[in-house]
Amino acid sequence: MSAMPASSRGRLFFTIDVEDWTADFPDMQGAPSRVAAPMHRLLDLLEAHQSRATLFFLVECARRHPEVLQRAVAAGHHIGLHGLDHRLVYRQQPDAFERAIREGRQCLEDVGGVPVTTYRAPCWSITRESLWAVERLEAAGFEVDSSIFPTKNHLYGIPDAPVDPYALTPGLVEIPPSVALFGNLKVPFGGGFYLRALPLWVTQQLLQRNVKAGRNVVLYVHPWELDVEQPRDLPYTSVVARTIHYFQLRRTEERLAALLRQFGPFEALPQRAEAARALLTERSVPLAGFPAPRADAGRQASHV
Ligand SMILES: [Zn+2]
Repeated sequence: MSAMPASSRGRLFFTIDVEDWTADFPDMQGAPSRVAAPMHRLLDLLEAHQSRATLFFLVECARRHPEVLQRAVAAGHHIGLHGLDHRLVYRQQPDAFERAIREGRQCLEDVGGVPVTTYRAPCWSITRESLWAVERLEAAGFEVDSSIFPTKNHLYGIPDAPVDPYALTPGLVEIPPSVALFGNLKVPFGGGFYLRALPLWVTQQLLQRNVKAGRNVVLYVHPWELDVEQPRDLPYTSVVARTIHYFQLRRTEERLAALLRQFGPFEALPQRAEAARALLTERSVPLAGFPAPRADAGRQASHV
C-alpha cells in the first residue's frame, strides 16, 4: 500500500483543540474567555522545542482571538477546524453539520489566510452512528480527519477502528489519536485526561514503545488544561465529568515540556490527503463495515 515499511520509526504529531474552558456549556458563552493566555504559553513551549502543531480551532475562539490564530500561522503551525461550536457530531443532522463545517472552514480561512483541510470533531464524536459525517467532510473540502478514537467509553469511540492511519475515502485520511496495543487491549495515552492521569513515566514508555514499533503518536491538549487558575464552578452534573475536567491540571504543562524535551521535535499533521497517504503502511487496514455496502449493490452486479 505504501513504500513506508512498518519497521520505520513512528512520527510524532502535536495537536491542540483550541476551545475555551466553557466549551461544553452553551449557556456560559457569555463567561470571560480565558483561552488566550494558555494558548500563548503553548505556542511559546512549541517554539522553545522547535516543534510544530495542528491547532483545531472552535470558530468562536478564532473570532474572539484572531491574534492567537495569526501568531500560530506566522510560526508555521497548521490550522484545522474543531467546529462552529462544540456540539457533538452524533447529535447533529447531516445537512446542518455540513453547513456548519463549511461556514467554520471559511471563517478560519478568512482569519488566518491559509487553507483549512483538517478536522477534529468535538469530543471525538465521529462514532458508528455518525459515520455519515465522513462524506460530508469530504464534500466540504476536508482531506484529513483526526476524530475517530479506536477505543470506547461513555462519550465516544469505535472500539474496532484501526489504530494506524487509514483511508476513509480516496480523498479523506484518518489519523487517529494514540493508543498503545497490548494484545487486544488498547490503552489511550498522550492527551487530555490520559496525559494528566497516567504517571509521566508510563506515558513516556508507551510513547517510546509506539515510536519504536513504527506507530505514529498524536499528542493532543486543550488550552484550559494549562489554566490552573480557572474557576472551579463549571456546572457539570456528573462527578465523573467534573473530575475529568479538573483532574491534575497543574501537571499538564510540565508533562508536555518533558515529552517535547525528550522526544521532540514534534510536527503538525499532514494537511493534504496525498501527504497523509504517505503515512499508510501495510498495517493500515480499512474501517470494518465502512462504507456500508449499498443495498442495491448485489442487484447491480447480477445485471452484468
Ligand atoms: Zn473539544
